Amino acid sequence: MPNPRELPIYEIEAALLNGARSTGRVVVQAPTGSGKSTQVPQMLLRAGMLERGQCVVLQPRRIAARMLAKRVAQEQGVRLGDEVGYQVRLDSRVSNKTRIRFVTEGILLRQMTFDSHLRGVSALVFDEFHERHLDGDIGLARALQIQGTTRPDLIIIVMSATLDAGLLKNYLAPCSVVASEGRMFPVTTEYEKHPIDPDREDVWDAAARACARVVARQPSGDVLVFMPGAYEISRTVSAIQFQRELRDCLVFALHGEMGPDEQDRAVDRYEQRKIIVATNVAETSLTIDGVTAVVDCGLARQARFDPHRGINTLLVEKISAASADQRAGRAGRTAPGVCLRLWTEREHIQRALQELPEVKRLDLAEVVLTLKAAGIDDVAGFPWIEPPDPKALARAEELLADLGAVAAGAVSPRPSAVATKAVRAAAIDETGRRPVLPDAGAPRCTSITDIGRRMLKFPVHPRYARMFLAAEEHGCVRSIALMAALTQGRTFWLRNVGRDVDTAREELLGAEHESDFFLLMRAYRYAERANFSMDACRRLGIHAQSARQVGPLFAQFLEIAQDEGLDVAERRVDGALVRKCVLLGFIDHLARRLDAATLRCELVHKRRGMLARESAMHEARLMVTAEISEIGGRAGEVNTVLGLATAVEEAWLKELFPADFAETVVTGLDPNTKRVTARRERRFRDLVLDSKDGAEPPATEAAEILSREVLAGALKIEAWDDVVEQWIVRVARFAEWFPEMEAHPIREEDRATLVEQMCYGCHGVKDVRNLDPWPILKDWLTPKQLAAMDTLLPERIDMANGRRSKITYPKEGAPVISARIQELFGVDKLSLARGRVPLKIEVLAPNQRPLQVTDDLARFWRETYPEIKPALSRRYPRHEWR
Ligand code: ADP
Ligand code: MG
Repeated sequence: MPNPRELPIYEIEAALLNGARSTGRVVVQAPTGSGKSTQVPQMLLRAGMLERGQCVVLQPRRIAARMLAKRVAQEQGVRLGDEVGYQVRLDSRVSNKTRIRFVTEGILLRQMTFDSHLRGVSALVFDEFHERHLDGDIGLARALQIQGTTRPDLIIIVMSATLDAGLLKNYLAPCSVVASEGRMFPVTTEYEKHPIDPDREDVWDAAARACARVVARQPSGDVLVFMPGAYEISRTVSAIQFQRELRDCLVFALHGEMGPDEQDRAVDRYEQRKIIVATNVAETSLTIDGVTAVVDCGLARQARFDPHRGINTLLVEKISAASADQRAGRAGRTAPGVCLRLWTEREHIQRALQELPEVKRLDLAEVVLTLKAAGIDDVAGFPWIEPPDPKALARAEELLADLGAVAAGAVSPRPSAVATKAVRAAAIDETGRRPVLPDAGAPRCTSITDIGRRMLKFPVHPRYARMFLAAEEHGCVRSIALMAALTQGRTFWLRNVGRDVDTAREELLGAEHESDFFLLMRAYRYAERANFSMDACRRLGIHAQSARQVGPLFAQFLEIAQDEGLDVAERRVDGALVRKCVLLGFIDHLARRLDAATLRCELVHKRRGMLARESAMHEARLMVTAEISEIGGRAGEVNTVLGLATAVEEAWLKELFPADFAETVVTGLDPNTKRVTARRERRFRDLVLDSKDGAEPPATEAAEILSREVLAGALKIEAWDDVVEQWIVRVARFAEWFPEMEAHPIREEDRATLVEQMCYGCHGVKDVRNLDPWPILKDWLTPKQLAAMDTLLPERIDMANGRRSKITYPKEGAPVISARIQELFGVDKLSLARGRVPLKIEVLAPNQRPLQVTDDLARFWRETYPEIKPALSRRYPRHEWR
């Protein structure tokens, strides 16, 4: 073993330890192979910083946690599991002597959830932080919270090969940042000249070809090939063994599903030249010495939220340019190297520069539940390093509430429709005002329930956790594990198959009326029996490669279930019980067929869609669908297709969710008859199960609906004219000038109330049009107020010359009468309320043009009239001029 002390990381040892001592927070940035993962924990140990607790090192991958622990134990000269150990899901080697413990992120997150003091831990090292896994992000935020409260002595170290140090520096401030350049040799990158057509050459064959090329060119040095997963790796290994030029090379696979010994063999050094075919575990997590050439297929399995299935799945995707550069760097560790990329330079430019952090691309239901288990109910207020999309958080909360994993503390999470209606009606009757409805957009703060706590035990998506809980009760754990496995991959069935395939399916799999899942399970069993042969699979329209991937996943899910103490024995199970479990996991995808003639469905949460044509559930009225896909149609329209359906019974809903049923009378304006009609509806949550027409609409609701039309301007009360508007202004002025009368002005919101009152007793549009508004309007004032208003602010005024003139009351300023000069002869004093209210007179010429506006007629006659009279009388000789 070369001396580890010569690794570049030792150049920054002093700075790192100083930072750990002074601020307790250190960011370490150094290229892969510098010695971060293996040396930093040992530095802390030697500096005496682990006397009172362990150093826990977080790894994104199980295989890396185990191999690093093994290496560090070796360097320390101790047995693995003693002073140095590891702990990953379903496997751990630790003891009470352990000082350095390598763990996967999920393990630490669980520990922090249940122990906010992190007892027995002195230092936390977040390794490979650039991968920005959700568990890592949350783990770091939690660690900072714990350090800021219960554990000020906790040391937090964040390390990575490529790091957005600015983001982290701000987030961790105050902290120390230490960086090392490392030692790298130049790597020449070569691209394919033409894009590889997957229909003509499989990616493993292309990779084997590239290996042959590079081995022929370079006299020595090992080759590292990147492939997305175990299956592609095994195909590549075979393809390499088949190449004559590569006869003299040793070939090894390296991925997480292999046994530990095999993994160790892959990284050992040999006399002979070797080719290692690995997943992206070899990208930055593990360093394999002696590599001088890299062959990169440019793909990786990545976790991503799949909106179709409403879960996170692993999909094979193109890696970013940044990842590709990391991979290339593996060739330049010990000597100048070469990297062959199996894509063109042109394709390269189109790649994303960087991977999106998981917090931006994954479903958050599982982490939200974990946070709530730690008592963090307000997840939006959680100190995220980068906050998730508020919509994604809301979606997670909604799903968890639907699954029964969280619930609002004091108030019921879903007020029943009946209760809301009752509140509305009461509010209108008592105050005559429009009621304030609960704000649907208000942030909800829910807490974890007992079911939620039990679900958290299963490290799977909360949907499946919920199903496993139910399956435990019903004794059908195996079926649920297989279903979970079947929904992880992409497209089990081939699309656009011919009629002969349909017939073959029916012959071999039989008819199915309970669940599309059951058909899928039978098809899987068939493919398994046929050893996933291409021919057998094609006969039934099964995607052989997808089917093959189900087996390991099934085993993994069974392992998880078994680990939680569930009974996974094989036994005959009743289909109805399995369907009940599916119902619990997909209750937010509950759908009802709208009619028997079409495939149209309505779902909870007010969505609509079409049952997939290929679904066998054409007879079912109620179902849950595991897949919801948006498919673009003609002219930009989007069709929602519901697939993988399972028929369910209403009786089960009653049994499992008795509180979620409601009966309501729903009123509305019939656009044809223009009358208010009522329907009696039965609902499960917001999904209408059935409805009956012909109920009597409650008068208050009819009034509310009709008045809403009036206020929106869609319907007019014919008799509501200018006279009414002028009367309303008069009331306002009356209240203003005569406060002692205690009258109230009619404001906008009062108008709404008045209109609603007027509409009370109306059944349709016609009734409203013919309404007489006056009785209700006049009721606004007491008889005494009415009489006073008519005297003090009359509609017309009697003038000294015996004429009556109309008064116009504006909203502001003095009331006005407009009159022609001749009408005013003999009048020199005019006032309202014995002079308490100012009055303006607009004096008009015979042609109705205003001559003057005055509030003093006597002065007009005395000063203005003599001046204008000669001209006027010449112009209008036929009028009287006194
Ligand atoms: P970093 O975390 O900075 O990428 P590591 O601490 O993982 O670096 O590795 C530092 C060096 O230690 C590697 O370059 C390699 O030489 C050696 N090394 C680490 N793990 C092993 C191992 N399992 N077998 C052999 N050498 C190893
Ligand atoms: Mg490392």
